[in-house]
Amino acid sequence: MSDTLVINEIYLSLQGESTFAGLPCVFVRLTACNLRCSYCDTAYAFTEGDKKTIEEICVEVNRLAEPFARASSVQARRLPLVELTGGEPLLQKNSLPLMAALCDDGFSVLLETSGAHDISPVDPRVRRIMDLKCPSSGEQARNRWENIECLRSTDEIKFVMGTHEDYEWAKAKIAEQHLDAICPLLVSWVHPLASEQQDKSLKKVPPGQMPISRQELAEKIIADALQVRFQVQMHKVIWAPELRGV
Ligand code: SF4
Repeated sequence: MSDTLVINEIYLSLQGESTFAGLPCVFVRLTACNLRCSYCDTAYAFTEGDKKTIEEICVEVNRLAEPFARASSVQARRLPLVELTGGEPLLQKNSLPLMAALCDDGFSVLLETSGAHDISPVDPRVRRIMDLKCPSSGEQARNRWENIECLRSTDEIKFVMGTHEDYEWAKAKIAEQHLDAICPLLVSWVHPLASEQQDKSLKKVPPGQMPISRQELAEKIIADALQVRFQVQMHKVIWAPELRGV
């Protein structure tokens, strides 16, 4: 059986989101996604990529992580973290043995997934960061609600919000399904795309939705006492938002 995956890029940077934000992290970006979210900033990963074996990927991750091995640290976990992202990692079945191999190498492994695929076969050592697609993504119908019962307290649910409708939808889902009792909830504000990021294949925001500003979103969360973590995409604050490989 082939043990290759199609990889868009592998690089060392800082984790920009989630409860791990700010920590050094090696990103393994897998090629291809079957969604076309209106705000997607990684459309270049839909098709661009090269085949690599699991062993080649692990060698590259360990090479990038090597400088950290010399440092002594009070951190409870080994750094850097390793995150599989995309694209949609779960579209490639070999992402499962790759994640297991990285866990075996002693890394804390994170998975960023759209929430449209079955997350149950993922190695239990992996921290799954699962999107619930809000209405303005144009991909709300792709949410695989059966995933909710697979989530553990070590996983995280992420809502990316660009409109008032997104906020009201997420607030209702959190209440209906008691999502805040399952795992940490993350709220990201949709960062406007640079012109070169506006891929023609992306869905349009459904008509009639009202954009929400970052400040309005933060103030709504406070006013409603929502049990969520509001986050900015740290890498887009540090580096130019359209820069790749950071
Ligand atoms: S799930 Fe959406 S945001 Fe993520 S890579 Fe696919 S199209 Fe882009």
